[in-house]
Amino acid sequence: MSKPIIAIVGRPNVGKSTLFNALAGENISIIKDTPGVTRDRIYADVEWLNVNFTLIDTGGIEPESNDVILSQMREQAQIAIDTADVIIFMTDLKQGLVDADSKVADMLRRSHKPIVLAVNKVDSFQRDMAEVYEFYNLGIGDPVPLSAANRTGIGDLLDEVLRI
Ligand code: GDP
Ligand code: MG
Repeated sequence: MSKPIIAIVGRPNVGKSTLFNALAGENISIIKDTPGVTRDRIYADVEWLNVNFTLIDTGGIEPESNDVILSQMREQAQIAIDTADVIIFMTDLKQGLVDADSKVADMLRRSHKPIVLAVNKVDSFQRDMAEVYEFYNLGIGDPVPLSAANRTGIGDLLDEVLRI
């Protein structure tokens, strides 16, 4: 893959934008391709240890909401999923595994794209690792722990993503 497109998806508030901002630095562009859409996809060109890729942040997926904004966000996330070569599916250790995560996982499986399961907010690997194993229950692969806020585990996550 010459320059892979990587999309970060998951429910709102799991830390997608925190990871995106940690990697994107200043190179952010906002793509508005549908008039009236309030939640646009945000792209960045990232160079990580000499590997170049395009990263897409998404507003988040609330699988069963009928709220207009949330359903627009879900549509935007679906476009990002369709565009991506690899998907980072982000979950949140602090909230734990919730039913909506399983529904997002179902949505992602239907895409037939490679998925790397990230468990964010693992602020202390020593304290938190036991809880990370719960996320195996999604049946979507090995959970990769990180703390986007502390910028720990990001290298290992990208290694997984770029291996695909
Ligand atoms: P998004 O909606 O998925 O884009 O989530 P945001 O990146 O906006 O983050 C949602 C909240 O989670 C914010 O208050 C962040 O500061 C917080 N957050 C993000 N990453 C971490 C983390 O690694 N650890 C902790 N404790 N909080 C985090
Ligand atoms: Mg965000």
